[in-house]
Amino acid sequence: MNLDLERIRKNARNSSTEDLLDRITVYRAGMEAAAIEIIETELDRRGIRESDIRQHGESRSGTIKAGEIARRCSLCHRPAVVRAWGWHRLWGRLPIFPRRFLYCDVHRRNRRGDKSTSS
Ligand SMILES: [Zn+2]
Repeated sequence: MNLDLERIRKNARNSSTEDLLDRITVYRAGMEAAAIEIIETELDRRGIRESDIRQHGESRSGTIKAGEIARRCSLCHRPAVVRAWGWHRLWGRLPIFPRRFLYCDVHRRNRRGDKSTSS
């Protein structure tokens, strides 16, 4: 248990502020109280205030949710904002079958056709 918290703490230190903000807003419902506390502490250390967190949550209000928890983008860890058809590609090249992809705000903008790249 203690080891696990230590791992979460280390992970929080190495995560981007955007990632941490996503975690305690859109993904909050799927997290343990102890993990939320660690992330809030880390954000506080970085000078992020309560109002910044609220604002971030509001900016993510268009996310696609399954119950209380936001769905993740198919290409990165950001919350998804659109669902679209695309080709599932073998080795990232050969189109195999059409499937539904979830895209975050960044990948929605970078998307050209059904090109599948990782962030
Ligand atoms: Zn993305």
